[in-house]
Amino acid sequence: MKKLALALLLILIASLVLGHYRWQEDYRCELCFAQKSVSEWRLGAQPLGYPIFGGDKPLTFRSIRLTKPVEHVSPSVATRLFPVEHRHEWIFAQASTYYLFGEKPAGRVLGTSRQMGPFAYAFLNNPEFRAYAEELIRSNRLSQTQAVSMFVFDPGREGRLDPRYMRGMQMVRDFLATHPNRTFEESFKSGFGGA
Ligand SMILES: [Zn+2]
Repeated sequence: MKKLALALLLILIASLVLGHYRWQEDYRCELCFAQKSVSEWRLGAQPLGYPIFGGDKPLTFRSIRLTKPVEHVSPSVATRLFPVEHRHEWIFAQASTYYLFGEKPAGRVLGTSRQMGPFAYAFLNNPEFRAYAEELIRSNRLSQTQAVSMFVFDPGREGRLDPRYMRGMQMVRDFLATHPNRTFEESFKSGFGGA
């Protein structure tokens, strides 16, 4: 009897150790690229994410929530381009599982992908370009509305012949002519072709 109790206790401990995981859902704002993650601890029936009940079960298969979801929002550096009444449009980007006290990644589900236009890419990745674009806005050489329309443009959906894409390309070219930056130029070219 004692042996049985001990065996059950060991099984219980093993299931808790191997079956608990952190579940994290990532979202991004379709417009300003702010990011939001929602994370909770769960206990499931797939030890370390290993699908013992078959390979194509969802990651949350036979699992229960252990803690309340915690939400964390990382604002976008582009927030100031947007009017104050901007409301985020959250799009599911991916969900991931982390086993062993949140240390071991064990599978993810991907959501909708979203391409950036050249203006958004440069604005988010290069602080000098950000300052450059903001100076154009301050001096009325670029309206805020135009900046936002270039920023939210999705070439994956609407193509690269759109004026919002071409204008963004031209702006980055003009910027690079006066602000050479090898590292940025290379990463830009690999996403957008010759600048
Ligand atoms: Zn937003």
